[in-house]
Amino acid sequence: MNKIPPFDVSQQYQQIGDRLNKAALEVLASGQYIGGQAVSQFETEFAQYIGSNHGIACNSGTDALYLALRALDIGEGAEVITSPFTFFASAETISMTGAKPVFIDIEAHSFNMNVDLIEAAITERTKAIMPVHLFGRSVDMTKLMAIAKKHNLYVIEDCAQATGATFDGQKVGNIGDVGCFSFYPTKNLGGCGDGGMMTTNNPEVARKLHILREHGSPKRYYHEYIGMNSRLDALQAALLQVKLPYLDKWNDQRREISDRYTHLLKDANIPKLVSPHYCASSVWNQYTVCIGDGQRDQVQAQLREQNIITMIYYPLPLHLQEVYRYLNYKKGDFPVTEDICDRVLSLPMFPELREEQQQRVVSTLQNILK
Ligand SMILES: *Cc1c(COP(=O)(O)O)cnc(C)c1O
Repeated sequence: MNKIPPFDVSQQYQQIGDRLNKAALEVLASGQYIGGQAVSQFETEFAQYIGSNHGIACNSGTDALYLALRALDIGEGAEVITSPFTFFASAETISMTGAKPVFIDIEAHSFNMNVDLIEAAITERTKAIMPVHLFGRSVDMTKLMAIAKKHNLYVIEDCAQATGATFDGQKVGNIGDVGCFSFYPTKNLGGCGDGGMMTTNNPEVARKLHILREHGSPKRYYHEYIGMNSRLDALQAALLQVKLPYLDKWNDQRREISDRYTHLLKDANIPKLVSPHYCASSVWNQYTVCIGDGQRDQVQAQLREQNIITMIYYPLPLHLQEVYRYLNYKKGDFPVTEDICDRVLSLPMFPELREEQQQRVVSTLQNILK
């Protein structure tokens, strides 16, 4: 049996390799490897795509989050409310600034932070909320923004898994104060290496983001802040510029694939498996099912034996991570998150996944769980 991988980033190269080669060779020949036109053009085009006034490229999604927090003066003594069910970088970057991540439980149906729990977590030290649009699906941004406004809090959107997703017709990343994106290869818009972007409509925040990503220096060798070196390589910018016009098509393909999984799983009628909740505006970075009765790990192993590779995002919630022991969370603090961590399984998902591959995934699941 052929292998069905969880993602296959080389397929995009097969589709548009000629254009990617050309763009890369142009950069190589230009000698402009840092900054320059490729970067500024991509920043403009990406910001236009999101609908934001400013796009500031950087070296990774992690750096985007860190720089956004720094640009909003979040640091020692501050608290930032986020989800415990996300990639570590969401909380890690809060800690990197010296601030404290404050977790709230998630909703089982969306896997996203339960915005109804935000207000109870707000203290006099709270400075921001960091919603994470997990697996391609937006947090309820109408409710979240109303709470942020009422309590005068900044909103930093972690859009790493949701490039192109919308909430109520607005692109994520253009709703809060700063939107943070990742171009890690398996993201919806993936580069050929690391890359990130910040979007904002606030010109002062944009200026500070520009400065912070280059050593806090508005003018070479004059420094206003302690910043860092976090630039997007010209080579990556040129490749991402080629890929950006395909993003909507690729996201549509992900939507079709998710619809097809849902129908196939419904027909397969597997009582122990719960399909993800339908969401038309999600861009389906992952198609994540829940498997009950403590069988998830065994199901994953059996799928692997059949050469179907699945992923567990995420096996251990952030509040129970070793490194956060000092925050004094304990097991049982976030029951929905903890239960979900034991049950989630992300099925193979990439725009080029074929119908017969999906059929094989579902029939294999049916056989294992019958
Ligand atoms: C990928 C990811 C990041 C970090 O992005 P990098 O580009 O890998 O640094 C942050 N948050 C979430 C939710 C992610 O999935």
